[in-house]
Amino acid sequence: MQYLEFMLLSSSLMLAIFADVLRFPLLRKGRGSRFFGGISIVYSVFLILSMVVTGVEESFLTFPVYVERVLWALQFLSFPFLLAMWMHFNALNVIDNPKLVSRLTYIHLIPLVGLTVLTVADISLQKFYPLNAAYAHMLPVAGTTFMMVVSVFFCLGMLLPTLAHAKELQGSFLFISILLPTTLLISMATFWITHSYALFIVVNPFMLVLYYLIGQRDSVILDGLTGLPTMALLERKLIRIFRFQVSSSVILLDIENFHAFNARHGQRIGDSLLVKLAEYLGTLCIANELFRLDSDRFCLCIPNRESSLADRLVTQIQERMDQPWEVEGMFLYIQVNIAVISIPKQASTLDEFKRATDQLLLEIKSVRNTGKIVYTRALSLDKQHKQDIISALRDSIRDPNQVQVYYQPVYEIGTGKLISAEALMRIVDKHLGFLLPDDFIPLAEQTGLIVQLTQILLTKVCQMMKRISQEQNSLQYIAVNLSGIEFESKAIGKNLLETIKREGVDPRRIGFEITESVVLQSYEMVASVMKELAGEGIFFALDDFGSGYSHLRALIDLPYAYVKFDKSVIRSSTTNPKMLTLLAGMLHTLDKCVIVEGVETEEELALAHKIGIERVQGFYFSEPLQGDEFLQLLRKAEKR
Ligand code: C2E
Ligand code: MG
Ligand code: MG
Repeated sequence: MQYLEFMLLSSSLMLAIFADVLRFPLLRKGRGSRFFGGISIVYSVFLILSMVVTGVEESFLTFPVYVERVLWALQFLSFPFLLAMWMHFNALNVIDNPKLVSRLTYIHLIPLVGLTVLTVADISLQKFYPLNAAYAHMLPVAGTTFMMVVSVFFCLGMLLPTLAHAKELQGSFLFISILLPTTLLISMATFWITHSYALFIVVNPFMLVLYYLIGQRDSVILDGLTGLPTMALLERKLIRIFRFQVSSSVILLDIENFHAFNARHGQRIGDSLLVKLAEYLGTLCIANELFRLDSDRFCLCIPNRESSLADRLVTQIQERMDQPWEVEGMFLYIQVNIAVISIPKQASTLDEFKRATDQLLLEIKSVRNTGKIVYTRALSLDKQHKQDIISALRDSIRDPNQVQVYYQPVYEIGTGKLISAEALMRIVDKHLGFLLPDDFIPLAEQTGLIVQLTQILLTKVCQMMKRISQEQNSLQYIAVNLSGIEFESKAIGKNLLETIKREGVDPRRIGFEITESVVLQSYEMVASVMKELAGEGIFFALDDFGSGYSHLRALIDLPYAYVKFDKSVIRSSTTNPKMLTLLAGMLHTLDKCVIVEGVETEEELALAHKIGIERVQGFYFSEPLQGDEFLQLLRKAEKR
């Protein structure tokens, strides 16, 4: 009768797990979590069988003798069967090699098959286990001894691999992986000695509950996609590192513009790439040293086992990034920004570490493509300055008077006419004074504030255009610069057009400049916005051409009317004009109007003229001017 109480307790525990799984399914697949469900079901079957068999023994239930024998045989077999399942589950969790796990499991199943054949045959033979209500009479019998030996073999099949892999298993997982076979072994031993399997009934649901708790906890602290520990676990590790002041290095990795990568290739390819990257990074360190902090950020936290280990790893990672990643038959490239924090040299408390990471991650975005950044305490002075700039940007959105537009004229070389202008943003802050784009554009992009700032600037440009339209002049359009981040919202085209229309300006008198890197990062999005706006007559210029990789497909397929050479191109062309000549020729073949930016000298102007370039912009003619000054210049140019 004692079994009934244990069974009741176990059933309630199982029901509790089932109810919880229904409400909060295990997030993390793998590590045997699917198999876990199988064990719970087999254990529930075992419980039901045990209840029925107990009912028969206690004479609550009666069946024909043959049925009773079958029930008994099934219940009897469910002991080693459950243990075999536990063993497979344990192997999945402990041994990292799935092939080895299946091979071991097949070997272990051989005695189980033997036992099953024996037991089924014995239902009619009745030689190996006499069907008897009292287990005491059965235990010495051959079949029972065989079952016990098989069970102990399975328990050892759990314990030994666990001990062999103890080093790779961490904390609570190692504990539970040892606890499981030990308690099962004890429960089988008590079964053998006392002929009571009460302990076996109880051990199973308790182990299931423990595994369930660990599984649920893991699903919170381990990343679902890559299986890597997350920020929460990194913090725990750091607490220990700071407590014992273990000399360590933290390498932060940030994938450059992963957003755009996802937008271009799709989430599935993006996910596969993250898994590949995680696998690669995993080969550089041992378990528990690699973390996924954010969707596109990883972190290696390694004790300084040898000097310059971090440097070596950084070089190794940088070299790998020069190679493509094969995802679904495509060869894709990514760029990662890397930052290093040395503990305790550069951060000696967790707070200090957090401040350093916040700042480095901000830094990583603004100092793009420069390889590696090493945190120094001096950077933290900078941090305050950056926060001040971000505040100034927020203030400017609240008070658009702080946003100023400077206009730099563009001239037609052939006629010398002032033909268009580029609108350049400045911020005038009451605390920080006059800010140039290089001071605030990267921060405005990181914080997303650029989207609102562009709207303010565009409104002002439209108002200026209205004033210009009222006078007689040859100015065709004013161009506004757009940043990559603006293309992350599908509404960008609609919003820009709405502003132009609201201000009552002819869209043909507004242009937009987009740099090549923006086009490369979010090609599809840029293409669709461009086509939408070009349909309304808005002009587009490809900005800073020749300063990075050129994207020929973009040049051919996208409706650019103008291509602007970066100022570095004209600078280098006075000594060697080959590239400029060649590229300008190509652009002309593509029917693009070419503008050279940054013309500072007569010599540069003469060169542009000789090559047949149509338009020029640069300090040689005029610096960017305030609105009123620009209007005056326009009037003067008209009189000439
Ligand atoms: P950009 O679009 O290539 O603009 C041209 C930059 O070159 C301007 O710098 C201009 O002042 C400078 N420049 C013009 N002529 C010469 C010259 O002869 N020599 C030299 N050395 N420089 C010359 P600025 O105004 O500091 O703007 C820098 C960059 O900031 C711009 O490069 C643009 O990418 C960005 N930017 C400016 N305003 C905005 C804006 O409203 N929105 C966005 N998203 N970016 C902007
Ligand atoms: Mg520009
Ligand atoms: Mg430019």
